Amino acid sequence: MSLHDAAAGESQAPGPIGRVLSPIRGRLIAAAILASAGAMLTLAPLAGIAHIAQVVLEGSGAGADAPTLAKNAIWPTVIVSATCMFAGMALACAGGLIAHLADNRITHHLRQAAAQRLARVPLGWFTSRASGEVKQAMQDDIATLHSLTAHFFTAAGQAVGAILVSVIYLFAQDWRMAIVSLLPFTGFFLFLRRALKASGANMREFVAGLGRINSATVEFVNGIPVVKAFGGADRMHRGYREAIDAFAESFAGFTRPLVASMAHAHAMIAPVTVLGVVLMVGTLFAHLDMIAPAGILPFALVGPGICAPLLLLHTLLHDLGNATGAAQRVLALLETPVLEPVGPSERQCPAGHEVRFENVAYTYGEGHQALVNVSFTLEAGTVTAIVGPSGAGKSTLARLLLRFFDPAQGRITLGGADLRRIETSQLYRSIGFVLQEVQLIHASVRDNIALGRPAASQREIEDAARAAAIHERILALPRGYDSVVGEDAQLSGGERQRVSIARAVLLDPPVLVLDEATAAADAGNEAAIQDALSNFARGRTVLVIAHRLDTVMHADRILVLENGEITEQGTHSQLLAQEGRYARLWARGGYETAMVPEASSC
Ligand code: ADP
Repeated sequence: MSLHDAAAGESQAPGPIGRVLSPIRGRLIAAAILASAGAMLTLAPLAGIAHIAQVVLEGSGAGADAPTLAKNAIWPTVIVSATCMFAGMALACAGGLIAHLADNRITHHLRQAAAQRLARVPLGWFTSRASGEVKQAMQDDIATLHSLTAHFFTAAGQAVGAILVSVIYLFAQDWRMAIVSLLPFTGFFLFLRRALKASGANMREFVAGLGRINSATVEFVNGIPVVKAFGGADRMHRGYREAIDAFAESFAGFTRPLVASMAHAHAMIAPVTVLGVVLMVGTLFAHLDMIAPAGILPFALVGPGICAPLLLLHTLLHDLGNATGAAQRVLALLETPVLEPVGPSERQCPAGHEVRFENVAYTYGEGHQALVNVSFTLEAGTVTAIVGPSGAGKSTLARLLLRFFDPAQGRITLGGADLRRIETSQLYRSIGFVLQEVQLIHASVRDNIALGRPAASQREIEDAARAAAIHERILALPRGYDSVVGEDAQLSGGERQRVSIARAVLLDPPVLVLDEATAAADAGNEAAIQDALSNFARGRTVLVIAHRLDTVMHADRILVLENGEITEQGTHSQLLAQEGRYARLWARGGYETAMVPEASSC
C-alpha cells in the first residue's frame, strides 16, 4: 500500500498530521514512550540527592554511629540513582533513534509519493501553479514535518514524563507541600489563557493586516519599473506607507495585551519563583511543625525542575500549528487529481497519425467557456494553422491535444484512438511539442535534449541540435554539451527555445504541436529557427498556432477561431475567396497586425 493510499484511507483520523504520519504512528508512539520513561529515570538522581541530604541531616544528631549509618544508607541510593540515570539516558537515546529512523522513512516516502503523484497529474495543472507552490510542499513542508517526526514526539514524551514523575514524587513526599509547589504553575495557565483570549480577539485584524502588507509589498516591487517609467512614485509610496502604518497599528494592538500576559505567565514558571514559594511556605510549615526542615529539600530540588519541561511543552504545542499547515499542504499535493491510468483492457493503439477533434468543449474552472463544440480534422502529414484574436482559445486547443487536460465534452482522437485510452508514454512519443513556455531541467544540455530519448547517441543529439540551429552555440559553452543549464549554460530565451526544438527533433514524433511565437523571441536567429521548424515540420501532422504571415499562407488548412468557436476554415486562397472575416483582415494589411478582436465601426 502506498503512503498516499494509507493516508487517504484514514478517513476517521483526527487531523492532517495524524493522516500524514499514520504509516509510522506505532514507531512514534514507541519513541515517545521510551523518551518519556528515559526522562523519568534521569530525574531519579535529584530524588536521590534529596534523600541523601535528608539522611545526612536527620542522622547528624544520632550519636557516634551516625557516619557509618549514613554511609550505609547513602551507597544504595547512589548506586540506584546512577543506574537509573544511565538507563534513562539509554532509553532516551533509543527513543531518539527510533524517531529519526521513522522520520527518515516518512520523509523518503512522502517525497516519493509526491513525485509519483506529480508524474500523473495533468500537465495543465503545472501551468496554473507557480513552481514555488510545489517547492513549498515538496521541500519546505516536508522539512517542517521532519522536525515534527524526529523531535516533537520524543521531546513531548520527555516533557510529559518529567512533569508526571515529578508531580507523583512530590505528592508521595507530602501532599500539602506538593500543592504549594504546583501553585505557580496554575498561575502560569491562568495568564496563558488570558493571553490567548487577548490575542484571539485581535488575531483576525492582525492576519488581515499581514495580508494587506504582503500584497502592498508585491504591488510595490512589481510596479517599480512602471512607476519609474511613467512617474507616480509618490502615489505608489503613499499606498505602501499606508499599508505598513496600518499594519504597525494592528501589530501593536495584537501584541500589547499579549506581551503583558505572557510576561506574567513566564514569571510564574521561572524556577526562582517556584523556589521562592517552596522556601517561604516550607519555612512556615516547618515553623508550624507540619514538616521537618529537611523535608523541604525534595520540593526545593524537584519543584523548580518542572519549569523547563512545561515551557518546552508550551513551545512544542505552538510549533504544532506550523506543522499542521505543512501537513495540510502535503496532503493537498498527495491528493491532487490525476489522469487515471488506462487499464490494459481499455487501452487503444493509434492506427495512423490523423487527429480529430469531435465536438470538443472546455471551461477553465468555473470561468467562461474557452472552447465551444469544436470539430475539425488534422489530416496525416498536413500543416494546419490556427489563427484568431488573443483569448480566442488557440492555446487551449493545443494543450488539449497534448492532454494537459481532458475535454469537458467531446473527444480527441489520434489514429482513431481516444487520447484518454492511449498510454501516456506512447502518446508523448507520438505527439511532440514546441511551446512558448520552455521547460529546461537543471541538468546538462545533452540531458535536456535527450529528455524524451535518454538512450540517444551523441551523434543523434548533435544532429538534432544542428537541425534546431543550436549546435554551434552549445559548442561555444564552457563545457559544450556537458554544460549545465542554469550553471555554466546561461541561455537566452530564444536559445532555450531552440534546445526545446532540438528535443522535439530528437524525439521524431509523427504529430507536432507548435506555438509559432517561439520563433519570434530570438530576433537575431529568427530566420534560422524558422528554417529549422519548417524542415522539421515537413511530412508530419502539424498543428501550429500561427503568428506569421508565411506560415498562414503555406499551411494546408487554416482554422479561424473566435470566442472558442471555429468561424471559418480552408486554405489561404479559399478563405480569401469566401470574403469573410479572414479576407477582410487580410485586406486591412495582413494577418499579423489585423488579428485583434473586431473593433466597432467607429
Ligand atoms: P489564445 O491562445 O487564443 O490567446 P487561450 O486558449 O490562452 O487563448 O485562452 C482562451 C480563454 O481561456 C481566455 O478567455 C483565457 O482568459 C482563458 N484561459 C486561458 N488559460 C486559462 C487558465 N489557466 N485559467 C483560466 N482561464 C484561462
